[in-house]
Amino acid sequence: MSTSLHIDTLSAIVGRVNCLTDESDLVSYTTDYRKVYSGAAMAAVRPGSTKEVSEVMAYCYEHGIAIVPQGGNTSLQGGAVPVSNAGLCIVLSLSRLNKIRSIDPVNDTLILEAGVTLAAARTAAESVQRLFPLRIGSEGSCQIGGNLSTNAGGTAVLRYGNMRDLVLGVEVVLPDGAIWNGLKTLRKDNTGYDLKQLFVGSEGTLGVITSAVLKLVPRPRSTSTALVATKSPATALSLLGRLKTRLGNDVTAFELISAPAMKLVQEWLRDEEPLFASKHDWMVLIEISSHSDQDDINDAFYEVLTESYDKDLVLDALLATTEGQAQRLWRLREEISDAQTRTGGSIRCDISVPLSAVPEFIERASAKVLDLEPATRMVIYGHMGDGNVHFNPLRPDGVSATEFMSKWHTEVTLAVDAVALSLEGSISAEHGVGVAKRDELLHVKQELELLISWRIKNALDPRNLLNPGKMLPAISSFSRSQS
Ligand SMILES: Cc1cc2nc3c(=O)[nH]c(=O)nc-3n(C[C@H](O)[C@H](O)[C@H](O)COP(=O)(O)OP(=O)(O)OC[C@H]3O[C@@H](n4cnc5c(N)ncnc54)[C@H](O)[C@@H]3O)c2cc1C
Repeated sequence: MSTSLHIDTLSAIVGRVNCLTDESDLVSYTTDYRKVYSGAAMAAVRPGSTKEVSEVMAYCYEHGIAIVPQGGNTSLQGGAVPVSNAGLCIVLSLSRLNKIRSIDPVNDTLILEAGVTLAAARTAAESVQRLFPLRIGSEGSCQIGGNLSTNAGGTAVLRYGNMRDLVLGVEVVLPDGAIWNGLKTLRKDNTGYDLKQLFVGSEGTLGVITSAVLKLVPRPRSTSTALVATKSPATALSLLGRLKTRLGNDVTAFELISAPAMKLVQEWLRDEEPLFASKHDWMVLIEISSHSDQDDINDAFYEVLTESYDKDLVLDALLATTEGQAQRLWRLREEISDAQTRTGGSIRCDISVPLSAVPEFIERASAKVLDLEPATRMVIYGHMGDGNVHFNPLRPDGVSATEFMSKWHTEVTLAVDAVALSLEGSISAEHGVGVAKRDELLHVKQELELLISWRIKNALDPRNLLNPGKMLPAISSFSRSQS
């Protein structure tokens, strides 16, 4: 069957205007957020309902057309774009499935379609005095379907957990077009396998999430934010322990930031106002939130910081006294990722290790990188409270991005990942696998784990049409026979 006949049929399902085929329209669907990965697709198809998703998928299944599900296309691992120029493929954009279906402050649930952005989900929760606690820098673009498919984490995992902890139910369309309605709102349901969790973190390789039930939590009445200078990751770790002992679950975010990371983002935002009277190598952005009065939480936080200053865990602190100041501090943290993208030449390692091993990881991984290229800028930041560090060596000033990446990308990534693995860590804490980390899994997963994963994949997607080439290393790469 010719491509034009496929396009005609898909257009008949979603409407001609929602089946994009011009190269100028396609490029933003076939190129990833960082403009590192791209591939070919015959169309970007934009269904407007679960029924249309099902019809598109059933048609593609019958005709052997690969499907790349796409939400906000903010994946940092090349997960949401085609990776090959061969074969028949469409990008399936979920953006038009953007309705909030219901919001229930009694059951503390939010039922919404997969294409609702994270920012819109958070706003909806606020309208009933609740909080949907997932918070990541891409919230204006990323979508709930993408957040679920990547098991997104972010800056509030320390208190509320990641996407896996925040979902109660999903509706999924399987590769052959079958619709599974798993939109349960129950907190307890021990009736067999927890199928929804199979799709969380599966990066669009098993089914397309079309709707979800999310958990809401009470909205804290008061929040206190501070940027704290500290001597080292080790003193940051001690400070975190002290905060947890004194303030318990009120410790909501604990984000480590190295001096080169802060310098980069201040330059990018042209935020020239000094943060502290003198320069510091390490900073931590801390947020405390609570159901107590604002004055009480401010006092409690201030007290712990003062005690920690006396113990040399805190060198200086900038406590936000207005909402505007808190927003400035959060903007500095959240724009680091984009500052690196704009600068170019950044090797991104999203690792996790047991919390207690974070200082050792940073010390050993930094030494390895600086041994290789002493002028590298050590852009290190991230969710220290979860043991998750974005360890992103950046090209030295004056060295081009192409030169730095072609010379060091592979060697530095493997060296950094090796340190994380030696500390019982993971090479992908929250950004997923996509295409960027796929083949590394051959070295970090047990062969049996990969075999089980492929058996699940084959059971649900026997024709390997859903997001092919992502997350799972090719079965032919395994050393043992599959029989
Ligand atoms: C500035 C910035 C900051 C970020 N910060 C964080 C952070 O703190 N924590 C974090 O975890 N991530 C972070 N990310 C990464 C990214 O935003 C997340 O992975 C996000 O969850 C992806 O959502 P998306 O809608 O953009 O998904 P996409 O990028 O479109 O897709 C991601 C994966 O999910 C699949 N997919 C998308 N929608 C569906 C669906 N409905 N059904 C089935 N599969 C689907 C895709 O095929 C792909 O494999 C950041 C990214 C940027 C650019």
